[in-house]
Amino acid sequence: MAGRPHRRGIPKPKGQKPRQTRSSAAIDPEDPCAVPGCKNFADKALGGRSIAYDNAVDVWDNLQEGPRRVKICRTHYKEWKKAKKDDETEWS
Ligand SMILES: [Zn+2]
Repeated sequence: MAGRPHRRGIPKPKGQKPRQTRSSAAIDPEDPCAVPGCKNFADKALGGRSIAYDNAVDVWDNLQEGPRRVKICRTHYKEWKKAKKDDETEWS
C-alpha cells in the first residue's frame, strides 16, 4: 500500500497573513520554556518569567527536574498564576 512517499517538511505558509517579524527578529530567544511540550521561549524580552521549581511543579507535575528555578514562557506564567489563584481560593 505505498503510493507516494510521505512528505516531510514544513508546509509553505500562505502568503496572505502579514508576518510578524518585528518583535521576534529583534531578539534572540535562548531560554526555552520549561513546561514539557511547550515550544515558546521564556526570555524576559518575550514576557517570560522564572519561578521556583516547587511552585511550578504544583501546576505541571511532569516538569523536568532541574534547577531550583525554572523559566516559563509568558503564556504558561499566566496559566500558572491562574492555577495558583484558584488554589488560594480553595484554601481559604
Ligand atoms: Zn510555555
